[in-house]
Amino acid sequence: MRQRYWIKWIVVLSLGVFLVSCSSQETAEDLLARSGEIHERVLTVDTHADTPSHMLRSDWDIGERHEPAQRRSGKIDLPRMKEGGLDAEFFAAFVGQGERTPEAYVHAKERADRQIDAIHKMCEDYPELVELAVTPEDAFRLEEQGKRAAYIGMENGYPLGKDLSLVEVFYDRGVRYITLCHGGDNDICDSSTDREHPEDEGLSEFGREVVAECNRLGIMVDVSHISDKSFFDVLQVSKAPVIASHSSVRSLCDHPRNLSDEMLKALAANDGVIQICFVSSFIKTSEPNPEREKALAALQEKYESWREIKDQETREKMRQEYMAIFEAYPEEKATLKDLVDHIDYVVELVGINHVGIGTDFDGGGGVEGCDDVSEMPHITEELLRRGYSEEEIQKVWGGNLMRVFRQVTDLAVH
Ligand SMILES: [Zn+2]
Repeated sequence: MRQRYWIKWIVVLSLGVFLVSCSSQETAEDLLARSGEIHERVLTVDTHADTPSHMLRSDWDIGERHEPAQRRSGKIDLPRMKEGGLDAEFFAAFVGQGERTPEAYVHAKERADRQIDAIHKMCEDYPELVELAVTPEDAFRLEEQGKRAAYIGMENGYPLGKDLSLVEVFYDRGVRYITLCHGGDNDICDSSTDREHPEDEGLSEFGREVVAECNRLGIMVDVSHISDKSFFDVLQVSKAPVIASHSSVRSLCDHPRNLSDEMLKALAANDGVIQICFVSSFIKTSEPNPEREKALAALQEKYESWREIKDQETREKMRQEYMAIFEAYPEEKATLKDLVDHIDYVVELVGINHVGIGTDFDGGGGVEGCDDVSEMPHITEELLRRGYSEEEIQKVWGGNLMRVFRQVTDLAVH
């Protein structure tokens, strides 16, 4: 009797395990199909990619498909955007921080202009695939037509120098967000990753004028890269909600580029949005590797200020050596699940209305499981797996960002 009782239980248990494994297999296929359908239905937006640096290459063409995971393929091209169901991209006109002299400002503006030219040229070269977008409505219209929307963001306000009138000049060229600074302090504000001056001085007087000018024109103010004090100063000054175009959560990965809980709460109170950044080291703190650190320190010593190297040949040589170090001592890459943990965290802390996607593809972004634009639907699959509804997914994929963009445009007075 007792034996039969146990046999009965073993049968019930194995049947249970069998059913659970069957249903999870079905779910995996279901998820894939549902993810594809959602990408067809909702507007999908990425707020940060450094692809213009590839657009300027003579051996690379954004209209052609490049094989993913190849070193010189880049992470985004127009055919792969379509494959990955990504409707709109904010292409960044990026200028690294340099000297704060009149000559350097001229040079910085030229660099920003060259990249904006490259974005315009892409739209002229492939009018059937992509169009320049300047209003929130443009993306929805282009999605209907099956075309990609190309927005322009300017990463680093450095090309403005000290000339406020340039904000409107860049607006007229299509710029719809300005990341106030980059890796170093500038005339607008202090950076999160520059503690050469121990004091964080936040937003300058000129910075306040830049924020007001962005509000007047309808340019989104981007708080990614800026220091904590700069961030809180901006929130006090800005009349419109702001965005963090590519930043992640500091509580999950302690990096000054990421936003603390206090900052996330303030951002939500401002009705703004954080667009989770895919740079592995902002998603997950990697295990320290003393040999790699030693090799990197030696490289740094050899080339001194490597960000400033102007000579192309030396730059390429340095880049090769840098890559070789990471090949010899590979870094553990963050995974798609780690990335979606950041989305979950923001949702739990401040709700679903303040989070989105800002890959930083072609600028260091890419995680295991979503390493180029063609793999974007995996994010949706993971969100479905975690029980997000289509309405919530639509918010993450661009609904929230477009709400902020509309508010910014509505508040503009020009
Ligand atoms: Zn950046």
